[in-house]
Amino acid sequence: MIDLTGKVAIVTGGSRGIGADIARLLGRQGAKVAVNYNKSADKAEEVVAAIKAAGSDALAFQADVSSFADAEKMVEKVKETWGTVHIIVTSAGMNWDGVIWKMSPEQWQKVIDVDLTGTFNFIRATAPIFREQKYGRIVTITSINGLRGKFGQTNYSAAKGGVIGLTKAAAKDLGKYLVTSNSVAPGFILTEMGEAMPDDFKQVAINEGVLKKAGKPEDVSNLVAFLASDAAGHITGEVIKVDGGQYI
Ligand code: NAP
Repeated sequence: MIDLTGKVAIVTGGSRGIGADIARLLGRQGAKVAVNYNKSADKAEEVVAAIKAAGSDALAFQADVSSFADAEKMVEKVKETWGTVHIIVTSAGMNWDGVIWKMSPEQWQKVIDVDLTGTFNFIRATAPIFREQKYGRIVTITSINGLRGKFGQTNYSAAKGGVIGLTKAAAKDLGKYLVTSNSVAPGFILTEMGEAMPDDFKQVAINEGVLKKAGKPEDVSNLVAFLASDAAGHITGEVIKVDGGQYI
C-alpha cells in the first residue's frame, strides 16, 4: 500500500476523467489534494467531497492551465493553505482533431496551449518550491500518440511529444535537488475524451491492443500514485505506457 500521508498534491484537470480518478486515489492514500478544474466546478467539488469522505483534505481551484498567471496563483494559494507542494500531476488536456491539410492555426495553437504549455506552466510554478525543499514528484500525462503520431492529431501528437521532452529535461534540471520527473502514456482509456471518439475509431484502438480491451482511469491512476510516492524515488526521466499493448 502506497502511503502519501503528509504529502500535498496538485492534480490539474482533476475535475473529470483520468485526473479525477488520480485525485481521488492520492486522497485515499492520505495526500491533501488541490483539485484543479477549468469549467467543471461541480465535478471538481464532487471529487473534493469524495476525498474528504475518505478522510483526507482537498480543495477545488479554478485555473486555466494555459495561463501561467493562473498556474502561479493556484500554486501560491495551495502553499498558503497547506504550507508547500510535494507532488504535481498534470492531467489537464484536450484534443481537437483534424487532418493536417484542414487544421486551422487556431486548432493547432489551442491544443499546444492547453496540453503542452499547460504542463510547462504547472511544472514551472512548482519547480522553485521543489528545488528549495529538495523534494518533489512531477508526473505528467502524455499519450501513446505523442510517442507514435496519430492520424488526424498533428496538434495533439506534437503537444504530447513535447510533454515527453519537457518531462525528461525537467528531470535533468531538477535531479540534483532529488526531484523526480516522469511521464505516463495512456492508450485508449474510457473517459469522456475516450468515449467522444467515433465508434469505429474506438474499435480500432481496442483491436490494436494485445489485451483487446479499453483501459480504465484506475489503470492510469495506480501507476501515477506509485510514481508520486517515496517508493519511486529512484525512477526519473521515464515514460511508461499504460495501453494494454496498443503500441508495442
Ligand atoms: P477528459 O475526460 O476530457 O477530462 C479532461 C480534463 O482536463 C477535465 O478535468 C478538464 O477540466 C481539464 N481541462 C481541459 N482543458 C483545461 C484547461 N484549459 N485548464 C484546466 N483544465 C482543463 O479527459 P481524460 O480522458 O481524463 O484525459 C486526461 C489526460 O489524459 C489528458 O491529458 C489526455 O490527453 C490524456 N490521455 C487520455 C486518453 C484517453 O483515451 N482518455 C489517452 C491518452 C492520454 P474542466 O472540465 O473543468 O474544464
